Amino acid sequence: LKSLLKDPSLLVTKALVAGDWVDADDGKTFAVTNPARGDVICTVPDLSRAETARAIKAAEVAMKDWAARTGKERAAVMRKWFELMMANQEDLALILTAEMGKPLAEARGEIAYGASFIEWFGEEAKRIYGETIPGHMRDKRITVLKQPIGVVGSITPWNFPNAMIARKAGPAIAVGCGFVCRPASETPLSALAMGLLGERAGLPKGILSVITSSRASDIGKEFCENHAVRKLTFTGSTEVGRILMRQAAEQVMKCSMELGGNAPFIVFDDADLDAAVEGAMMSKFRNNGQTCVCANRIYVQAGVYDTFAEKLAAAVRKLNVVDGLKDGVTTGPLISADAVEKVEEHIADVVAGGGTIVTGGARHELGGTFFQPTVVTGVTQEMKVATEETFGPVAPLFKFETEAEVIEKANATIFGLASYFYARDIGRITRVQEGLEYGIVGVNTGIISTEVAPFGGVKQSGLGREGSHHGVEDYLELKYICLSI
Ligand code: ADP
Repeated sequence: LKSLLKDPSLLVTKALVAGDWVDADDGKTFAVTNPARGDVICTVPDLSRAETARAIKAAEVAMKDWAARTGKERAAVMRKWFELMMANQEDLALILTAEMGKPLAEARGEIAYGASFIEWFGEEAKRIYGETIPGHMRDKRITVLKQPIGVVGSITPWNFPNAMIARKAGPAIAVGCGFVCRPASETPLSALAMGLLGERAGLPKGILSVITSSRASDIGKEFCENHAVRKLTFTGSTEVGRILMRQAAEQVMKCSMELGGNAPFIVFDDADLDAAVEGAMMSKFRNNGQTCVCANRIYVQAGVYDTFAEKLAAAVRKLNVVDGLKDGVTTGPLISADAVEKVEEHIADVVAGGGTIVTGGARHELGGTFFQPTVVTGVTQEMKVATEETFGPVAPLFKFETEAEVIEKANATIFGLASYFYARDIGRITRVQEGLEYGIVGVNTGIISTEVAPFGGVKQSGLGREGSHHGVEDYLELKYICLSI
């Protein structure tokens, strides 16, 4: 990998703790592997609670001066950080693909997407406006300040090794917080490279620490038990989110939670079917189905069901499954053997329940964790894919008759992150977008992510929003000041 990089120093194998690049106190390391080939890229320090506590302490100290700077001063550093990420986009993408497996073109897109949050929130740093409220008595004046919440602990997954951290570090650091992140152990290299670029951009020592560790629950406990941490921000499964919220309850810590989804993708009989197929391909097969906003259940109205299934299967057969670094790739490997097993389990369950495999359905001839992109029909609400997130390349097609029926089915889940539908009738579009119990609704589009809009879920998909001007609120506290004159 190093030989492919224009700047080989971006492949960092030490952790960033309190402004220093360090090994673990006890010398432990863990290996980072390339999921496309299974080979070890390098090892990184396996840190524990002690180093995490040091990082938290340093963040607490460093944020005093950082928060006291003007928004414009912080924005200038964030701007530089954004520019460095974009100037090194190709190297960052190579590192990302090597450790995570997504096609290089998608990795480039992720770097630009991640960097956009650093840019956006850097700009927002200048606009952290408080309020003045007309007093409740003649001699009273009321103002409301917005102040940085304090040191933030961050835990993120492997599916977007850059962007998931950038979406949190962007607002936190922009408003003046110290930020300690623990990237997924599968993908620490993208986080370390971002840390290095942050340092080069001029982030003060200690404002950003990157804790590489295979011991996720230890780091989570340090975040939740250390009194200097005022906020926990997490992206991952609802199951782990619940554990962290319970732990965070101990010191009544504020939490942002971006948790699981089970996105419905609805195709009505008045939809532009070709556009719906294109949207479904993007929503379902991007990142090989491994995003929390991927279509998980595709509901197609009875009149267009067979045609849609045929068109979708034809598009799926054109996907090119191969190592993410190769030319012409559209689909890389899955992240792990467990991920492959879950995909197999969901397909087997559909077949056992009377469903049909239209295309794909089995492991790919490339071996390892490669899997054939799959379309299954005859899927019903009783099957596992109806309630569980597949997180893999399986498009399950459910048939429905009426608008009311599909809204009810789409909402019959504990999750409420992203949803999508294709239709043309304006009355229907209005009713359905209002009826879906989701934080995000894509209407006639399969791609909804952007730094300018508030991303987040309702129900058990989480708490808080990332992106847009709303995204800074999660990292601010209100202070009400009552002045008697
Ligand atoms: P995913 O399936 O995307 O890995 P998880 O919710 O299992 O979703 O993991 C998301 C992140 O949370 C990962 O970085 C993982 O290492 C971390 N994690 C898992 N369990 C815990 C825990 N008990 N405490 C803190 N972090 C955890």
